[in-house]
Amino acid sequence: MKILVTGGAGYIGSHTMIKLLENGYEVVCVDDLSNSKMIAVKKVEEISGKKVDFYKADIRDREALRKVFTEHKIDSVINFAGYKAVGESCAKPIEYYDNNIYGILVLIEVMREFGVKNLVFSSSATVYGNPHKVPITEDFPLSTSNPYGSTKLFIEYILKDLYKSDNEFNISILRYFNPIGAHPSGKIGEDPNGIPNNLCPYITKVCVGKLPFVNIFGDDYPTPDGTGVRDYIHVEDLAEGHVLAVKKLEEKPGLFIVNLGTGVGYSVLEMVNAFSKALGKEVPYKIGPRRPGDIPMCYADPSFAEEFIGFKAKRTLDDMCRDALNWQLNNPDGYVE
Ligand code: NAD
Ligand code: UDP
Repeated sequence: MKILVTGGAGYIGSHTMIKLLENGYEVVCVDDLSNSKMIAVKKVEEISGKKVDFYKADIRDREALRKVFTEHKIDSVINFAGYKAVGESCAKPIEYYDNNIYGILVLIEVMREFGVKNLVFSSSATVYGNPHKVPITEDFPLSTSNPYGSTKLFIEYILKDLYKSDNEFNISILRYFNPIGAHPSGKIGEDPNGIPNNLCPYITKVCVGKLPFVNIFGDDYPTPDGTGVRDYIHVEDLAEGHVLAVKKLEEKPGLFIVNLGTGVGYSVLEMVNAFSKALGKEVPYKIGPRRPGDIPMCYADPSFAEEFIGFKAKRTLDDMCRDALNWQLNNPDGYVE
């Protein structure tokens, strides 16, 4: 079985490619390297001992995609390709709509042209907006408050309409909670550009002395310690979720939507403390104002994922912090080519 992974050089894609290769799949990767480096693909090959057929291309480039589908008999596609920074999406909404929405439209059109009808899509817990309660089940109301989230929600609508119009498609919409951590080898991990927006890459930069302290965005939320609560999931678990989703597509299940989370929420303070434990010394932090747009609490009800695709996150918070820190300590400047 051959899987096309778009955006495979990125954070989640690179970890997923390893799991696919370890599970006997052949992997073709299309990435324009707009937010990643080729060395990540080389590391995937090094860790797995297997080859990835790599194409440097933009998924909006129809001819480039046609070449890939002509040269390979693809069974399923996992689409990670897209822009993902919430703040940037507010400054550059058109670029986000163009890349994320137009990108998947071109991809689907070319898939159709070549009779490929199995697709896994990276959605996000952001589509739940500010949930009315936790844990969150897949049938909760959906809403968004920024262009990035809107691209995810619109794509979900597009995929539902596509399925209604052609139920030969098998579509897996995976709503990720907060992926963190890295491959235990320390060879691949999250490599954000500039100062990280997300909590965990920010904390690991503080751990290695690249940033002075963690800014905690508010301690007056209606949560047990006043800081925001999220469902952090090890990227290795998340990657395994994709393999299970691809296996499910092979059973021709139609369209399905699952949460990929652990079902457990940790606060920002608990995260800082967990990293302090992994580091063996206190991670410095300061309490600051809330970040606009942040919600107090978000964690998954993961029971449908377990029931439907057999997914259950196995790795602990200690594993996540250890592996994230290991990656950062081995690669203080991220990927260097
Ligand atoms: P990432 O930026 O590390 O990976 C995305 C990859 O796609 C990058 O390698 C980038 O170069 C590539 N890319 C972007 N536009 C492209 C295009 N038009 N053509 C080809 N390649 C393109 O991001 P990630 O964290 O690995 O996220 C993967 C997917 O999961 C994204 O769609 C993201 O929105 C979604 N997601 C991520 C998170 C998270 O916290 N990381 C949470 C929920 C959903
Ligand atoms: N957060 C923080 N300081 C940071 C980055 C994030 O206190 O430098 C908090 C943020 O307010 C939220 C949690 O950490 O409560 C997770 O934020 P992240 O941006 O990683 O994920 P998201 O908000 O998208 O779930």
